[in-house]
Formats: sequence, C-alpha cells, structure tokens
Amino acid sequence: MASEIIKFENVNFFYDKGKTSETHALKNIDLGIKKGEYVAFFGPSGCGKSTLLYTIAGIEQATSGKILINNRDLAEFSQQELAVFRQLGVGIIFQNFNLIPSITVLENVALPMAFLGISFDVRKKRTLEILNRLGIAELAYRYPHELSGGQQQRVGIARAMANNPPIMLADEPLGNLDSANANKVLDFLKELNQKDGQTIIMVTHEAWSLRDVNRIFYMRDGAITRIESRGPETVKKGASSYYYKKLFPELQAAEARAKTIAHYVLRGYSDEEIKRLEYFLIQLLKKQIDADIFRAVLDRPFKQGGVGLWKQKAEKITREVEEMAKREESLKSLFERMNSNPNAPLKSEIEDIYIWLTKNLKFKITALQRIQMDELIEERVRNIITTEHFVKALNFPRANYGVGLKIGTSLRLKDKLESILGTNKKEEDEKN
Ligand code: ADP
Ligand code: MG
Repeated sequence: MASEIIKFENVNFFYDKGKTSETHALKNIDLGIKKGEYVAFFGPSGCGKSTLLYTIAGIEQATSGKILINNRDLAEFSQQELAVFRQLGVGIIFQNFNLIPSITVLENVALPMAFLGISFDVRKKRTLEILNRLGIAELAYRYPHELSGGQQQRVGIARAMANNPPIMLADEPLGNLDSANANKVLDFLKELNQKDGQTIIMVTHEAWSLRDVNRIFYMRDGAITRIESRGPETVKKGASSYYYKKLFPELQAAEARAKTIAHYVLRGYSDEEIKRLEYFLIQLLKKQIDADIFRAVLDRPFKQGGVGLWKQKAEKITREVEEMAKREESLKSLFERMNSNPNAPLKSEIEDIYIWLTKNLKFKITALQRIQMDELIEERVRNIITTEHFVKALNFPRANYGVGLKIGTSLRLKDKLESILGTNKKEEDEKN
C-alpha cells in the first residue's frame, strides 16, 4: 500500500472536547486514498465533510487515531514541516472563494508563492500562465468584487494551483455557481486529475458533482457509511443515468406525488385548501375515486368537505391532473429506457415535455434559448442538475450564459416539471 498518499487510521475528531457543546465530528474514520485518485466525500450538511478536509490539510489535528501523508504521521510533522506541507503539499478550493478583496486577482493567486519567497517576476509569470490556462488572464488586474461568481471561483482554483500541489482539496466547489459555470469547474478538476495527475479530494452534498470521481465515500453523522468504487467504464458511460438509478429508484408513492401536484396547481392557496386537495388527489392517484368524483369534490364548498374552488378552476385542475398522470406514465417508460440504455437520446421526449411545460406561457425566445432550455430539461430529467440549478440556470442573465427568464417564470417551470418528476418538496420551494 505504498502508493497511498493519504491514510486515516481510526481517526476521531471532536470540537469543544469536554465542554457541553462537544461535537463528535469524525467517528472512527479508516480509509486510504491512492496517489492520482479523484475521490469525493458525499453527505448532507453537517456530516463532517469540511472537518475531514481540514484534518487532511493540517488545519485541524485528529483528537485520536492517525493521519498519514505519504506514510508519515501528520501529528509528527514539526511546525516548519507542517507549514511547508500546507503551502506546497495541498491546495484548497473553497465554496465561498475566500479571495482577499483588497488586492487584485494577480496578487491573490501569487500570494501562496510569495509565502515561499519566490521572486516577484517569477510569481507574476507563473500566475499569468495559470490564469491563462483557466481562460481568465484578462482579469489579472481586476479586484474580486468586479468578477462574477464563476470567475471568482476560477481565481480560487488558480490560487489553489499556485504552488502546484500534489493534493487538491475542494470544499463544495460548485455550491455558489450556476450549472454552466459548475460544469466548467468540474471539467477543470477532471483535467487536473487526468492531465496533471493531481490527487483530488472533493466534498459535496450534491450528487451531480460526483460526475467524474473514481470513488465515493458516503458520510453521515461523522462516519463513513459506504464506499463505492467506479471503474473508468462507469464514469465514461453517462454518469447521469447511473445516478438516476440511485436517486430516482422509482416514481414516488401516491402521497408524495399528491403533495407536489397539489402544491403546483394550487400555488397561492391556503395550506388548508392545499391539504384538502392533496387528500382527494391521493384517492384519485390510488384510483379510489375517478375523475368525475374528483371534479365534483373540488367545487363542493369547503365547509361541506370539498375544496371550495370555482367550477372553472375545478375543471382546469382536473384536466391538469389528468394530463400529469398521462405525462407520468410516459415518463415511466422514458425512465425505463434510460436505465436500459444510459446513452439513449431523448430528443423527442424532451421536446414533448418542453411543449407541455411552456403551453400556457406567453413568451418569445430565441433559438439559442430554446436549445439551452431543452438541455436543462434533459439534465433535470436525467437528474444531472438539482432543482436549484435548474431555476438558477433559467433565471441567470443571458450575458452570463443563462437563459435569462424572469425568476417567477423560472420557478413556475421548475414546479411544473417537478410535479411530474415527483421530487419537489414544499419546504424547498418556500425558501426560494
Ligand atoms: P459539513 O462540512 O459536512 O457540512 P462540518 O465538518 O462543517 O460538516 O461539521 C461537522 C459537525 O461539526 C457539525 O455538527 C458542525 O456543527 C460541527 N462544527 C463544525 N465546525 C465547528 C466549530 N468550529 N466548532 C464547533 N463545532 C463545529
Ligand atoms: Mg462543509
């Protein structure tokens, strides 16, 4: 196992050890990461991912157990060795970019080299090379606040690359980016791994950012619960449908679907009314009542046990729900096809969904916007992007490669699409 660049032996880490606020953030972690691997730690917020990265970077020390870097115990590094390791051994990409606002891009990226005593001329030359590689050389003399989020993140990556470290740590590197920029960052991480041979360790809570990794460590409550390896084969073959299988094991139960549909069709109604509609929807979806009864209870007054909607509204909702049910049926076969052939083209299905999604919307879009929307719908159906990214990319200005739709329109399109995917959560929506 000489090739393991990082090894954890029964590592535990506590914040505020011995105090009432004590947190057991890492629990009995055992793992090895080989030189040149690209791995991800994947788990919900608060499960200890950042803490784990900090212990690798030597920013936090394990409370017990050992962390070996190239077979050497990190705890036995002298102060000076630790400083050198932090400057030359690891680069860190942060979610919130962490750029210094008062100095230029060039100075931000060159800073890690300055700590090593490299001359100004050499620093500048090397910095411009890195910026060039990331396609942002023309930003060298700008200040961080003058850049878009995507540009700032590229500067963050450039800075992490400054001293060409063998290990790259990325803490939720896509968290603040729209999908176009996030994909660029993923492409670049992959390039660093494959062309430069860097060992890359990414932590994330978003499944779609696992696109190119070789191994996934699933984390929960400070522990690793599962390790999943992926041959290059799996990685190459559209990771999308691979995730689809994992994340959409089946269309959801009637109850969950009823929630998303009720939420969508009764946008703006009271919780009471939505709950009542949900109740009848479940009955309808479970085929315990038919569409006629459903229509009748919708316009029965609320006090008499109905939903209390206007007749026309009731009629419209019934039609929408029937259409959604149909749409769901066709999605089911679509998903089956995606599972049996991950690379199956979905062009006509996506077109179909697009027409349905935008049916009641009056808007003019360009051919380019249309292509972008089709791509986004497909990525969402394949579960490559999250609902948040879907909305963000629709709403993002066209100048920044977004579709440039209004936020209200973007949210409505998301709700409608999610109502058939059955993944929309109410809480999530209220946040927006
Ligand atoms: P993640 O990155 O997966 O969201 P963290 O590693 O940030 O998780 O946090 C793991 C746990 O440690 C959480 O319960 C968090 O509240 C706690 N924690 C993180 N940082 C500190 C800190 N500086 N002091 C005390 N507790 C912390
Ligand atoms: Mg974190």
